[in-house]
Amino acid sequence: MKPADALISHYINGQTVASRSGRSQPVTNPATGEAIAQVALAAADEVNAAVAAAAAAAPAWAETAPLKRARVLHKFKELIEKHHDDLAAAITREHGKVFSDAKGEVVRGLEIVEFACGIPQLLKTQFTDNIGGGIDNWQLRQPLGVTAGITPFNFPVMVPLWMAPVAIGCGNTFVLKPSERDPSPSLMLAEMLHDAGLPDGVFNVVQGDKLAVDTLLQHPDVKAVSFVGSTPIAEYIYHEGARRKGVYPLRVQALGGAKNHLVVMPDADLDQAVDALIGAAYGSAGERCMAISVAVAVGSVADELIERLKPRVKALKIRNGMDPEAEMGPVVTAAHKAKIESYIDQGVQAGAKLLVDGRGYTVPGHEQGFFVGGTLFDDVQPQMTIYREEIFGPVLCVVRVPDLAAAIKLINAHEFGNGVSLFTSDGNTAREFSRRIEVGMVGVNVPIPVPMAWHSFGGWKRSLFGDAHVYGEEGVRFYTRYKSIMQRWPESIAKGAEFTMPVAK
Ligand code: NAD
Repeated sequence: MKPADALISHYINGQTVASRSGRSQPVTNPATGEAIAQVALAAADEVNAAVAAAAAAAPAWAETAPLKRARVLHKFKELIEKHHDDLAAAITREHGKVFSDAKGEVVRGLEIVEFACGIPQLLKTQFTDNIGGGIDNWQLRQPLGVTAGITPFNFPVMVPLWMAPVAIGCGNTFVLKPSERDPSPSLMLAEMLHDAGLPDGVFNVVQGDKLAVDTLLQHPDVKAVSFVGSTPIAEYIYHEGARRKGVYPLRVQALGGAKNHLVVMPDADLDQAVDALIGAAYGSAGERCMAISVAVAVGSVADELIERLKPRVKALKIRNGMDPEAEMGPVVTAAHKAKIESYIDQGVQAGAKLLVDGRGYTVPGHEQGFFVGGTLFDDVQPQMTIYREEIFGPVLCVVRVPDLAAAIKLINAHEFGNGVSLFTSDGNTAREFSRRIEVGMVGVNVPIPVPMAWHSFGGWKRSLFGDAHVYGEEGVRFYTRYKSIMQRWPESIAKGAEFTMPVAK
C-alpha cells in the first residue's frame, strides 16, 4: 500500500477502528500538492457506535471525582508537551502553516488543558447557610452526558482543545468530528488522552463530513454540540439543533466566520501598527478566524501606512512551512487557492486599487503547492464583495475613513463581529472605541486579541450563534447544568474516630 492510500480512521471506545463505510477522500500536503493519505468518511452507524461508547462511559465518568478527572488532564498536559513537535509537524503536513506557528497553536490549546486542570475549583459553587428554619441552599453544576465537537481545518489541535478538556473536566464524555482536511492530529490527541489514563469511551473521534455532522445533531443521546467553522454551517447547526425534537433539547454553541478590522489612528506608533498588520494579516496565510483582513486608515495616516506596508508585503518569505525561514506557508487546498484568487479578481473588477498581487504565485521546487502571494488592496469600499465577505487568505484590504466615528460606524455595520483592534496612543480614544464597538473581542495596540484560557472566546453578530462563548468560565457553564438544592437536616450523625490523615478518595 502506498502512503497515499493509508486510511486515517476513527477512534472509538479507546481504540482505533477501521472504517467500514467505504467512503473516503484524500488528505493533501498543501506545500507539495500531493495526496499523503485518505481520510475515512463515517457512515451513520459508525457515528452511532461512537455515541454509544460515549453514552456507556458517561455515568461512571460523571461519578468520578473532579480531582481525579483533573489528574488525567494533568498527565494529558505532560504528554502534549512531550509530543509538542510531533503535533506541530502533523499540523504543518496537513494544514500547511509554518512549523513555528503550528507550535504556537499547540501552546494555545495546551493552555485550555491547564485551565481545565483546575476543574475542582471551577465546579465549586455558592452556599447559603441557614436561609431560615435550619434550611441551607446551594447549587450544583452537573455534567450533561454525551457532548460533541465539530471543528474547522484551520486549527486542528487548538480548536478541539478549546472544547474537549473543559467538557471532559466537567464530567461529560465527548465525540469529536474534526475537519476532514487535516484529520491526523485528532487521533494523536485521542492516543494521548488514553495514555493519560482516560477511561475508554470518554473521548472518541469520528472522521467524516456532513453525514457525520447530521447524525450527531439528530442523535437523542447527544446533549450539547460545540461547533467552530464558517458562518453558513454555524447557522445551519444552530437551527438544526433548535429544531431537534426530543425529551432533551440540544444545547448549541456555534462559532462562525469573521472579517476583522484593525484601526490605525493618526497618533498610533506606525512601526508597531505595520508590524501588527503584517503578522495578523499574513500569518498562517490569513487562515485564522482572528486574522486581520481590513486595515482602517483614519485621516492623514493612510498614505504613509500604505507606503510602509507595500514593501513588507512584497518581501514576505513564502515557503514550505517546514522551512525555518518561512513566514507564510501555502493555503489549505487547490480549491481554496482558486477561491482566494477569484476574490482578488473581483476586487480588481470592482475598482479597488491592487497594490500587491498574490495571484499565480509559485514557490520554486513546490510548483504544485497551493501558494498564494501576499496581496494588498487600497481604496476598498464597504459595498465591495472583498470587503463584505470573508476571504480567509493572505489578502489585506485598506479602507480610508476621515475620523474615529466613521471607523466605528463602518465596523458596527459589518455583519461579522469576531475580533477588532485599534492602534492609538490616546487612552480616551481607546476607551471610547472599546465601549462603542460591536465586536466580541477587542484589542488595543494588540493585533490578535485571542482571550486567554480563563477568559472566554467568541464573537458577536454573525460570528457566533448561541449564548455561550467557548472555554473559560463560559465553557464550564456550557458543559454543565445548574441545579439548586435546598435542604433541612436537623441532626448530624457522629461516626467513629479516624486516626489517619484524611485524603480525597
Ligand atoms: P467549514 O464550516 O467548512 O467546516 C467546519 C466543520 O463543519 C468541518 O468539520 C466540516 O466537516 C463541517 N462541515 C462542512 N460542511 C458541512 C455541512 N454542509 N454540513 C455540516 N457540516 C459541515 O469551515 P472550515 O473551512 O473548516 O474552517 C474555516 C472557517 O472557520 C472560517 O470561516 C473561519 O472564520 C471559521 N473559524 C471560526 C472560528 C471562530 O472562533 N469564530 C475559529 C476558527 C475558524
